[in-house]
Amino acid sequence: MEFAAFTDRAASIEAEAADLEIVALLAEMFQMAGPDLPVVARFVQGRVFPAWQSATLDVGPRLCYDAISRAAGPNVTADDVERKLAETGEIGTVAASYEFGGQQGLAAFGSGETTELTVAEVDETLRSLAAAAGSGSQDRKVDTLFGLFNRCSPEEARYLARIVLSEMRIGVGEGAVRDAIAEAFEVPTENVERALQVSNDYGRVAGIARDEGVGGLDATGLEVGRPVQAMLAQAGTVTDALDEWDDAAVETKYDGARVQIHRKVDGDAEPASQSTDISVYSRNMEDVTDALPEIVDFVAESVDVPAILDGEVVAVDDAGDPLPFQEVLRRFRRKHDVARMREEVTLRLHAFDCLHADGDDLLEEPLATRHDRLSAVVDDEAAVSTLLRSADPDEIAVFEADALEAGHEGIMLKDPDSTYSPGNRGKHWLKRKPDVETLDLVVTGAEWGEGRRAQFLGTFLLSARDENGTFETLGKVATGITDEELATLTERLEPEIVAQEGREVEIRPSTVFEVGYEEIQRSPTYSSGYALRFPRFLSVREDKAPESADTLSRVERLAERQ
Ligand code: ATP
Repeated sequence: MEFAAFTDRAASIEAEAADLEIVALLAEMFQMAGPDLPVVARFVQGRVFPAWQSATLDVGPRLCYDAISRAAGPNVTADDVERKLAETGEIGTVAASYEFGGQQGLAAFGSGETTELTVAEVDETLRSLAAAAGSGSQDRKVDTLFGLFNRCSPEEARYLARIVLSEMRIGVGEGAVRDAIAEAFEVPTENVERALQVSNDYGRVAGIARDEGVGGLDATGLEVGRPVQAMLAQAGTVTDALDEWDDAAVETKYDGARVQIHRKVDGDAEPASQSTDISVYSRNMEDVTDALPEIVDFVAESVDVPAILDGEVVAVDDAGDPLPFQEVLRRFRRKHDVARMREEVTLRLHAFDCLHADGDDLLEEPLATRHDRLSAVVDDEAAVSTLLRSADPDEIAVFEADALEAGHEGIMLKDPDSTYSPGNRGKHWLKRKPDVETLDLVVTGAEWGEGRRAQFLGTFLLSARDENGTFETLGKVATGITDEELATLTERLEPEIVAQEGREVEIRPSTVFEVGYEEIQRSPTYSSGYALRFPRFLSVREDKAPESADTLSRVERLAERQ
């Protein structure tokens, strides 16, 4: 395909406002693109490389201005280009405002060739920029880029400049390219979407859709060594989780940096060289392998089948306790002084998911199965997240308390039956919202326990004062109280019982509990008209008398603020 045909179509797309029309124009171009289809599908998004590749052209704006100014003639400097850019705000407009050497037929500014540029040639030349390294490479890059601009018409220069600086801005998002691939080659959007999720390469998927159809798209799998987007979490509560699922998979929420680890295994490789087959990617699929040598060493030691692991890298102190997230950042993208920083900040891996194990792609498997595969693949229990399956808020609260006690950020609640959807922030992974402000509430009732806990008061009725000093109920708390605490609380509250009916007792307002909760809801269940969701006992406010406990108007204010 001629580059002029591509830029001509890019201009029509840019001038079009309607999404459907944009998709139609794109689809038509994809059908016409022939062997250049993969490149065209990337160029429309201002990409030379697929999203999963860390490679960049490594061309800074200044280098690009240099190349443009040289192609524009002896009277134009890079400063002039920059000045014009400040006026127009857009590099494409600036590039298109010059007449380049090729157009003027002035051989002095370049080879003087007027050969028509092709998409393939532009792609190849830009890729050579990325490969250029070492001394003098910057000059060579300017030369190469100058050579390209020199042969451009103004319209070609407009889009070349934008591709070089990854600022295509013709109104084409990922969704439009996906839809256009589906429309052009008559394949369902969902199948295109799935293939994109596992490959992160619009060019490749476009080619497969055209040449192999749905079958080819569906056969597109993960590849060890090619990162995929990380599955993300929404904020949510224990109640949300247990309302939706039979039980929740509960894990510690580690406070570190997300990593995706790709472990290749070459059967013939000596153990010592295996580390070269390990790559670590950030959440944005950036290659961070070189910055994290001990993670690489760890995986070389403890994983001996091909695998893709998802997890969190956490900085720890000498005792192995987690350090704040900022400490990980000191290590994460570091290119220099890696060895010295390794001495200063120790990193530990907590793997929590497994996308591929020993030849099997696991994205479609339920979380619980993936976690089992993870445990089987990683030969070190300490590096694999502990996963609690529970439908019991009490048990989850204890798990959370332990996680917080150990210095972690909190807990994650996951749907045990959910598949892994790359890049998706769905409702299958919930990060538990941190406690909203706690409330100090008065105990006005309780219930005797059952079975083993029959001699203890177990569930406590909580109240807030209204403006008349009357206590109005708003919830019961049973969660977060240890057996020991139950015993002391019973001893303390039993003398305050003023009435009893069955297991329920009324208690004289005397004791104030500090409680955490996930949310305050309007509810007819309690006399206040409010109810606490997932209330948890935190402590007895020994320093507070019932008269200084929280008022109903504070509860109302907090409820409104949510
Ligand atoms: P967001 O992901 O919502 O954009 P963020 O980067 O601040 O925001 P968090 O709010 O910290 O992310 O929540 C999700 C992140 O928690 C994950 O991307 C992951 O890095 C981290 N995390 C820690 N422990 C786990 C775990 N057990 N399972 C999944 N993610 C975890």
